Amino acid sequence: MQTEFQQGLWKAAQGPWELGILPSAENLARARASLPATLPDTGSSLESVQRHIVDDIVPAFNGGSLSANYYGFITGGTTPAALFADNVVSVYDQNVQVHLPNHSIVTDVEYNALGLLLDLFRLDRSTWHNGTFTTGATGSNILGLACGREFVLQKAAERKGCNLQSVGEEGLFEVLNALGLSGVQVLSTLPHSSVVKSAGVLGIGRSNVHNICRADNPLRFDIDKLEKELARTDKVSIVAVSCGEVNTGRFATSGEDLREIRQLCDKYGAWMHADGAFGIFARVLDDSPEFATVKKGCEGIELVDSITGDGHKLLNVPYDCGFFFTRHPNVASEVFKNANAAYLTAGNSDGPSIPSPLNIGIENSRRFRALPVYASLLSYGKTGYQEMLARQTRLARKIYGWLFEHSAYTALPEASSKSELLDQTFMTVLLRANDEGLNCELGRKINESSRMFVSGTSWDGTPACRIAISNWRVDVERDFALVTDVLAKVAQS
Ligand SMILES: *Cc1c(COP(=O)(O)O)cnc(C)c1O
Repeated sequence: MQTEFQQGLWKAAQGPWELGILPSAENLARARASLPATLPDTGSSLESVQRHIVDDIVPAFNGGSLSANYYGFITGGTTPAALFADNVVSVYDQNVQVHLPNHSIVTDVEYNALGLLLDLFRLDRSTWHNGTFTTGATGSNILGLACGREFVLQKAAERKGCNLQSVGEEGLFEVLNALGLSGVQVLSTLPHSSVVKSAGVLGIGRSNVHNICRADNPLRFDIDKLEKELARTDKVSIVAVSCGEVNTGRFATSGEDLREIRQLCDKYGAWMHADGAFGIFARVLDDSPEFATVKKGCEGIELVDSITGDGHKLLNVPYDCGFFFTRHPNVASEVFKNANAAYLTAGNSDGPSIPSPLNIGIENSRRFRALPVYASLLSYGKTGYQEMLARQTRLARKIYGWLFEHSAYTALPEASSKSELLDQTFMTVLLRANDEGLNCELGRKINESSRMFVSGTSWDGTPACRIAISNWRVDVERDFALVTDVLAKVAQS
């Protein structure tokens, strides 16, 4: 019985690898036509529902996560260990909400998985072992800015000797009014759209997210301008560091300026949040000179106040999974505490004190999404992930090297030398075709090959394409041959 069950899970974990990168138009049309117009009065047999899903719906999925050559967005795959664990999560349907040590092990596993992630990112457990799993980096950015909003207004209240302290308790408008402030602002350089969205959700306002960029480099902070904004007396500020900019895969800071910004934030009572959705993974790369420049982009990240990371991208666990860390557990619990629900308080435990997840995140009831993370980390270990990220980085660099020398393409951002370009490359390739007509159709033409998929974007005001390499199945030689073959044919077309 047990082994049959396990075999079933394992079989599911092998997956239907025959999905194409994109579904055919026929399969999409057939799937759409199969969707019911209204809820039927009577149910169908389980078997017929299964057949409907497998025969009608699944063929209209894309193979994004399954293919090593789907380079759209930043799409991670699912490692075999993570897939196995995710099936277990569904089968046993555990609710990770309150730490009840005599009822289930799940909160212990979640806490343990957060610790393993900190080890992976070389973050000190003694300061960073506070956080939670989220639905993704957007969720984590909301948590980061929410903690920041709480913290910077607490600091402003301290400065003014005012007794009103907590947005969580008193409300944003009351606190701002009491402090004579006109609002909260987010200072960043090329922030991900989800940071702007988070500002909208949190009552900070999308229009109060500002680029504080240097004129010669839109990704780096203009430190003088930053200080001017931080010193404002009508607003309080959160600094959001793009620890990985989504078009170029490059970093907003390196160790030195990050330390400088940290000092300014301390001086003016600002919160520092790092959106490391994919970029935090640069910390996993080994210490060889090959990756030194990229690793510098993550240097000093341990000095920020909160960090966003994505599980369903470079960690290669299934959707949906992100994580959030903060050095300030008290701030997080002030924001997220599930107050006045005595029946939801944690039971006593003889073990380490593990905070109840419901007090450090948006949800109360939630999925056991820590288990696939836990499984994949144990399955690969530190060096397994190092090796995976090295393959992704090496493929990106090999493609960039080829583009740099190809007369039909420009590697972006434009670099004066190939070695400078490759040195700064993590796992993202940005390119444009030199022929303007071809460039406008470049993404469509590449994707029409059905052999690989890229995202369209814009860079410096003109269209560009982005190859984001994030799947665990990457094979440098095989995928380099495929990508350059597609690009060469598109250039000739
Ligand atoms: C992908 C990404 C996000 C948003 O992540 P979701 O997982 O889609 O919520 C935020 N920031 C950066 C830098 C990203 O790359």
